[in-house]
Amino acid sequence: MASDVQAPLPIGPQPKVNYPMNVVYCGECTMPTEYCEYFPNYEKCKVWLEKNMPDMFAKLGVASEEGAGEGDTDEKKKRQTRGGKGQVKTKKKAMGPQKVCLSTAPRGKKKSVTVITGLRTFDIDLKVAAKFFGQRFACGSSVTGDDEIVIQGDVKDDLWDVITEKWPEIDDDLIEDLGHQKR
Ligand SMILES: [Zn+2]
Repeated sequence: MASDVQAPLPIGPQPKVNYPMNVVYCGECTMPTEYCEYFPNYEKCKVWLEKNMPDMFAKLGVASEEGAGEGDTDEKKKRQTRGGKGQVKTKKKAMGPQKVCLSTAPRGKKKSVTVITGLRTFDIDLKVAAKFFGQRFACGSSVTGDDEIVIQGDVKDDLWDVITEKWPEIDDDLIEDLGHQKR
């Protein structure tokens, strides 16, 4: 018995103690107000809270609005991420199947030119490519269309090795020989 009264009763608020006085019991459902939302008559509880605990009711409202806002932001971020990936896919689709076409065409009576189309489907800069071909074959080479390069001279047979070596992403199978064509 002596030990029970040995320690004096603490005076004032004590740390790490949840004071029952901080719990507000709802006049509608008789539960602590933080549990009100789990009851089917939460709407009635909110009415009671608004009347009797306007401060707490305001806090509840703000808290739920903030929660919804955060959720919205997350959703937007996710949508943006998905949209970004989708746009990349759409861009590739819009470019059509990736294929390079080679052909030769007559130039004058005896000479030929080599026509390359489709390099743009591999995102290759045509100006850079034309310059590269010109240096590689030591002949005239120029961009002649939206996705067309013309090399002066018949270098078609050499282009397979040159193209696949310069741009490894272009597979042999993706290069098509259209033969000799009149332009
Ligand atoms: Zn309640």
